[in-house]
Amino acid sequence: MLCSASSPTPPAGGHAAADHHARLRSAAARSDLPGALAAFAAMSSSASASPVLRTFTSLLKLCAARADLATGRAVHAQLAARGLSAESLAATALANMYAKCRRPGDARRVFDRMPVRDRVAWNALVAGYARNGLAGDAMEMFVRMQEEDGEQPDSVTLVSVLPACADAQALGACREVHGFAVRASFDELVNVSTAILDVYCKCWAVEVARSVFDRMPDKNSVSWNAMIKGYAENGDATEALMLFKRMVGEGVDVTDVSVLAALHACGELGYLDEGRRVHELLMRIGLESNVSVMNALITMYSKCKRTDLAGQVFDEVRYKTRISWNAMILGCTQNGRSEDAVRLFSRMQLKNVKPDSFTLVSVIPALADISDPLQARWIHGYSIRMHLDQDVYVLTALIDMYAKCGRVSIARSLFNSAREKHVITWNAMIHGYGSHGFGKVAVDLFEEMKSSGRVPNETTFLSVLSACSHAGLVDEGRKYFSSMKDGYGLEPGMEHYGTMVDLLGRAGKLDEAWSFIQKMPMDPGISVYGALLGACKLHKNVELAEESAQRIFELGPDEGVYHVLLANIYANASMWKDVARVRTAMEKKGLQKTPGWSIVQLKNEIHTFYSGSTNHQQAKDIYARLAKLIEEIKAVGYVPDTDSIHDVEDDVKAQLLNTHSEKLAIAYGLIRTTPGTTIQIKKNLRVCNDCHNATKLISLVTGREIIMRDIQRFHHFKDGKCSCGDYW
Ligand code: ZN
Ligand code: ZN
Repeated sequence: MLCSASSPTPPAGGHAAADHHARLRSAAARSDLPGALAAFAAMSSSASASPVLRTFTSLLKLCAARADLATGRAVHAQLAARGLSAESLAATALANMYAKCRRPGDARRVFDRMPVRDRVAWNALVAGYARNGLAGDAMEMFVRMQEEDGEQPDSVTLVSVLPACADAQALGACREVHGFAVRASFDELVNVSTAILDVYCKCWAVEVARSVFDRMPDKNSVSWNAMIKGYAENGDATEALMLFKRMVGEGVDVTDVSVLAALHACGELGYLDEGRRVHELLMRIGLESNVSVMNALITMYSKCKRTDLAGQVFDEVRYKTRISWNAMILGCTQNGRSEDAVRLFSRMQLKNVKPDSFTLVSVIPALADISDPLQARWIHGYSIRMHLDQDVYVLTALIDMYAKCGRVSIARSLFNSAREKHVITWNAMIHGYGSHGFGKVAVDLFEEMKSSGRVPNETTFLSVLSACSHAGLVDEGRKYFSSMKDGYGLEPGMEHYGTMVDLLGRAGKLDEAWSFIQKMPMDPGISVYGALLGACKLHKNVELAEESAQRIFELGPDEGVYHVLLANIYANASMWKDVARVRTAMEKKGLQKTPGWSIVQLKNEIHTFYSGSTNHQQAKDIYARLAKLIEEIKAVGYVPDTDSIHDVEDDVKAQLLNTHSEKLAIAYGLIRTTPGTTIQIKKNLRVCNDCHNATKLISLVTGREIIMRDIQRFHHFKDGKCSCGDYW
């Protein structure tokens, strides 16, 4: 404390007095508050060297800088004891100290007691408030200084008060300050105009900011940075990038601020070439040692789907921060490189970098994609140990993960235990139920969500519509679709239309689906006609299938799946010439049929099978087990469904069906697990009719539960039945 500060007994005499002042000045220059206090104490107890006003103001400055309220108060007491506290210089320093110690009331009291207040005093207070996030107080002072004392703000006042307008997002106040600046010709000063355009950007008025920017006679690097960052933060990546290129072209000094904004813009736009050019540029100006810039580079390459380049940058960063790891893990997860994401997460722990909630939210979806229940349980336990399991984003990711691992009931108990539920939490649970075919439960939960006062968003509707579709709840689906706009003012997007067409189509209401498409307010995309084409296959409607396929082909799909679908529809109707025609067209366009694969999940390993593959170590055993299985299910009524393959002889067809990847995966799962164990399969396409049928009977004859996740949804096979009710 101030008065108890110990110091050696000071030597007496005038020489020592000068010495005390010099000691205090040098301590103040070093921002050394204890040193300054010691000098002050020595001075106070010395007979010849009494503190002068400047002594106190330099002490107060140090207290303000360190936000040391207790010492500041003690200095205030000393000043008051000497009757100096109303002196203009002292009071200004006191007000500044209180403002910076976040005591606006005390600052105001000191200030109000000042008999004479000059602009420096007002500015000190405005700046003190503004820098401490007390935007309202700063604005009030800005107005009062003009009204009460007739004191005109100067450029210092403006540059102090403007950031406060930005913090409060006070667009009106900003306009006023801007108007004042123009009238007083302060807008010609580059720092004032830059501060003004910065506030407009932060108040989402980026167009106004741009007009300020364009009218500036002189611009410096800070002005360019503020404008580019403003565009990036307002979501206008194109303009941000354009301006960045102009900045480089005009030879303005580029700094990390504009490079960060440019990298962000390239990532948003997916502009790999532009991103690479910014990469080269930042290397030239020596920003490769700036870890924030390197992290932004990792994110940019990831967003441009080049995790290989992101990985190179990541490896080059010598002192990786947690943000570097997070960026790389998220990049892998979002680009489908789930195993790499998990590996990185383990490496991060070996390096003793402590994960945060963002890390978990980035790695959990990777584990959801791998859908290994053991690993799922592990990361859940880990989240609990890190005290992050009640973070609403982590919890939502966990719910989604358990649902994707086929453990819907665990997902539900997590959902119930959540202290806080966001709309995303509800969405994850509703989607989880829908994808497992529990359409009714999904709908009930949706109703519960609405009655709890939580407002659904576009994603909620997509999940609930898709749940209705998988469960054949046509009336509910129709009702929810129209309530989107009528009840919640949400505009349905392409995906919502696609899901509605799917819903109507699956339920056999093909004509309604067709007229629904005709009434769409936007041009229907491939996904919409694709949903109808799928329904046409299910309900064997060749005419509408041709119509839909025609529209799809006009839109130029880049995969062969729709050609295959149409060929199959023709084949079902024995229209062989048309089958051949579609296949030729497909070959001409160079489109390929996506090869099917399935994964079976065993305790600590996963095994991938391609249809017809014989290169597995235990291929012989697998095929033998499969042959035996087919005999067993034939005994309970299995008839191979050869409808889907038509250009080969019947027994060959059966052979081909029997080598579908999911059947191989199931056979291997049966070999490798003990009786009673649930078998977990993941398939990259929609499961075919024949495999679906066979799997139901396999669950019956083996007494096993089989959970199959295909590209559309989950199927729980048990006792000869599937949870989808043969509706998928
Ligand atoms: Zn199959
Ligand atoms: Zn099913």
